[in-house]
Amino acid sequence: MSPVSFVQALQCKECKKQYPKEALHVCEDCFGPLEVAYDYEGIKRVLSREVIEKRAESLWRYRELLPIDGEPTVGLNAGYTPLLRARRLGEALGHKNLWIKNDAVSCPTLSFKDRVVAVALTKAKELGFDTVACASTGNLGNSTAANAAQAGLRCYVLIPHDLESGKVLGTLVYAPHLVRVNGTYDDVNRLCSEIADRHRWAFVNVNIRPYYAEGSKSYGYEIQEQLGWRTPAHVVVPMASGSLLTKIGKSIEEFVKLGLVEARGTTRLHGAQAAGCGPIAEAVLAGRDAIRPVKKPNTIAKSLAIGNPADGPYAAQAIRASGGSAAAVSDEEIIEGIKLLASTEGIFTETAGGVTIATARRLIAEGKIPADEETVLCITGNGLKTQEPLVDALPLPPPIAPRIDEFEKVL
Ligand SMILES: *Cc1c(COP(=O)(O)O)cnc(C)c1O
Ligand SMILES: [Zn+2]
Repeated sequence: MSPVSFVQALQCKECKKQYPKEALHVCEDCFGPLEVAYDYEGIKRVLSREVIEKRAESLWRYRELLPIDGEPTVGLNAGYTPLLRARRLGEALGHKNLWIKNDAVSCPTLSFKDRVVAVALTKAKELGFDTVACASTGNLGNSTAANAAQAGLRCYVLIPHDLESGKVLGTLVYAPHLVRVNGTYDDVNRLCSEIADRHRWAFVNVNIRPYYAEGSKSYGYEIQEQLGWRTPAHVVVPMASGSLLTKIGKSIEEFVKLGLVEARGTTRLHGAQAAGCGPIAEAVLAGRDAIRPVKKPNTIAKSLAIGNPADGPYAAQAIRASGGSAAAVSDEEIIEGIKLLASTEGIFTETAGGVTIATARRLIAEGKIPADEETVLCITGNGLKTQEPLVDALPLPPPIAPRIDEFEKVL
């Protein structure tokens, strides 16, 4: 591992004013979000395909492109999930060149949030915090609580009151302070901003969000490396705050800039949301970057139910600039998507993954994703955590007596 850090500063995405590498997230001049700036010339001198390939199979193999100064200390096994050729799903959707990046098997908590939390908690420790916290739609709480337990950090998780039982238990078991809030995720997030002003805690997606968000780039780096150091023609990405989509875009720009992959034309970024909470997809389809917040999200895809997405305008802009598109799919289509992925590829994804599959199905049918162009579908979470919406769709077969004639009857 390289001992030197290539992180130069935090920089305002809007006015480019620079800030020191501290727990800051908004520009004091223009209120734009801050982003991590790197010394790419320096990185180019030390980072090559060969160097990366020799390293352990975790997201830390791209360490120079992640915003930490010392060695990683939390989430050492996160990342490097399988990229699979999805032939049977491709046949079902009428597509010949389909891939799945499978973070349903992410370590340790079965969603891509393990990537952002590994980076955020390593950074929180570097910055001297002993307490970490988050506002969560479920998966972030699971990962923050698990990694905080392992790192010996105090942990507060704030969630909307009505999450799936798998998501709630999957946080409680790690014994953090869990606070259920009567309100939407946006209410929870607003409350967390106020708490962050008052307590010196590292809120992974509030005051240390610039570092946290960089962890998502590893999902995109892995797609490119696992395809054989090339960029895909299309990526279909589920969107909540819109951060993962914009960071996959950034991961491709960085690998091209560093000469790690050949630029084979723009990768089209396609955004996937649920119709019951699709503010970014709606903006893209209406041809604008401005987001109209959704006041009362209403969808089974609770992990994506952010009505006022922090990175919404940037996600919409990234989709448009790439020549990509978007869809907002119904709850019925989401359930069909979950069942189709399971029955064709043997992968049980959560509702967000159903959103990805349903969106891909629609964009392929509409010709927005041509049937022969290399396409990666982002599966970001595990179905065991969101079982409730499937109960009616998958009725239990009645039990039979333990007799061969009874068995032959149901055959
Ligand atoms: C959080 C989450 C996303 C999207 O995250 P953003 O970066 O906020 O857009 C996608 N899938 C799952 C399963 C998630 O938990
Ligand atoms: Zn600014």
